[in-house]
Amino acid sequence: MNSPLSPQRITALCGAAAQRVALEVVDETGSTNADLLAELVSLRGPKLKVAEMQTAGRGRAGRAWHSARGATLTFSLAWKFRLPVQALVGLPLAVGVVIAEVLPRFGMDGRLKWPNDVLKDGGKLAGILIETALARNGDGEAVWAVIGIGLNLAMPDALAARIGRPAAALPAQALDRDQLMAALLSGLVDALDSFELHGFAPFQQRWNRLHAYAGQQVTVLEGERVVQAGTALGVDDCGRLLLDTVAGRIAVMAGDVSLRIKE
Ligand code: ATP
Repeated sequence: MNSPLSPQRITALCGAAAQRVALEVVDETGSTNADLLAELVSLRGPKLKVAEMQTAGRGRAGRAWHSARGATLTFSLAWKFRLPVQALVGLPLAVGVVIAEVLPRFGMDGRLKWPNDVLKDGGKLAGILIETALARNGDGEAVWAVIGIGLNLAMPDALAARIGRPAAALPAQALDRDQLMAALLSGLVDALDSFELHGFAPFQQRWNRLHAYAGQQVTVLEGERVVQAGTALGVDDCGRLLLDTVAGRIAVMAGDVSLRIKE
């Protein structure tokens, strides 16, 4: 059994920039994203909320993110950007880059599936859900992003059955969860500071290096309907997926589309 996550230890292990993030660890909650969204009006600065167990984790478009106690690291980071909401389209991809770049420091390897998943050996290892809310700001446009991440540390049979699709996990035994959380938080803070100044462009090449489906035949789905098919090339400097199709090269916006390897 893992020892409980320690907010003091996580803060102590973080880089200097991340020390400005308020941190809360709870034993159980429905959804850390829902909690932080409800708290935004009273937040004075960035906040990280980590739950040992999430009972109503959310994915995109009302889908569920499943957890099991001790088997998943689930957390959300509330962050205020002095940007219009449209400027955040590439943010889930930048967050994916942070996760995939932290994993090798713990002896693991992750690849990125457009737009918002981290894969290991073809199965989903981590999911990212970003929800936004306009912020009241005296001097121009500002938006809160609540960045939710679920990362599998183990895959007990009951969890795999609930997910019902290929899923992957890190080997939990070998992991110091405080250290992993601190590395992810430090990476996120650096990335979000950079994103505020430069947008997605500095993450483009890093994302493409980690692309799980580079050069593969894929289909883009809207629900069950195939809306595009072609060769996945990588992403452009806005985070759109570049596809070579029979009609030529196109750039696909994330929206609520899903990507599948072509059978
Ligand atoms: P798609 O894979 O269709 O593109 P998505 O990546 O956008 O969907 P999300 O909304 O990010 O999906 O995540 C929810 C989906 O992830 C669920 O529908 C389920 O298939 C899968 N899932 C839920 N919990 C887990 C988990 N702990 N590990 C891996 N996959 C999970």
